[in-house]
Amino acid sequence: MKKLIVANWKMNPKTSDEARKLFLGIEHRMHFFNDKAQVVLCPPFIYLPQLSLYSHHIRLGAQNLHAKDSGAFTGEVSVAQLSGLRVTHVILGHSERRIYFGETDSQVREKIEAALRHKMIPVVCLGGDPKASKGTMKRLVTKQFKAAVNGLDKKLVGKIIFVYEPIWAISTFKNAEPATGEHAAELTLHIRDLLEKIVGTVHAANMPILYGGSVNKANVHEFSKFPTIDGALVGAASLDSDNFMTVVKEFHRESIHKT
Ligand code: PEP
Repeated sequence: MKKLIVANWKMNPKTSDEARKLFLGIEHRMHFFNDKAQVVLCPPFIYLPQLSLYSHHIRLGAQNLHAKDSGAFTGEVSVAQLSGLRVTHVILGHSERRIYFGETDSQVREKIEAALRHKMIPVVCLGGDPKASKGTMKRLVTKQFKAAVNGLDKKLVGKIIFVYEPIWAISTFKNAEPATGEHAAELTLHIRDLLEKIVGTVHAANMPILYGGSVNKANVHEFSKFPTIDGALVGAASLDSDNFMTVVKEFHRESIHKT
């Protein structure tokens, strides 16, 4: 399985010119790594049409979608509209959506189904609840996982990419500190156990499960060295192409090392 590194640009950068430069700084270097690593880059919606013209090695992802295909939903973007822009992935259940926009588990579940209906891959974050402490993460992850897959056909569950992203590790949160590699490995393994019960051991072993939270060029090895962590969701460090490419290189290197 290729390592997967998903870039979450959030509401950055400020101009389409900057977006193009940042994108090309990654795209132009990806041919060295795309044998063992896949990058999915999730810019703000407005940059997607432009960036889709330049993307060859990089896949494009969205940071949100609306569960309905069309209708009177001011300010929203549907999965049907995104598919037309060569968007293949969408980040769902991110803690910032849960906290600042009040997204509930059941809304996340609806959005997952909408994405899958259009053959878009949901990248579903687990761990985003400000009330959760380090000691209660396993319980929270289990709860959010069960809500995310509730009633879904197991074939569809098998297409979801899960990310363990503890809220306290996200760089923009107050007093953020990255998880330890051991903790991230334990929780990604826990997610794989949950998946095994639905899709079976063989399929679950081939599903990428990522870690997210303050991953950057200085600490990536702490996560990439664990075979149970198949890649990363990267926020702040993805806004600097050198920093981000070091993360990609490191996962690529580990992948070569282990095959
Ligand atoms: C994120 O918000 O998804 C994220 C991983 O951010 P950061 O890498 O900045 O912690």
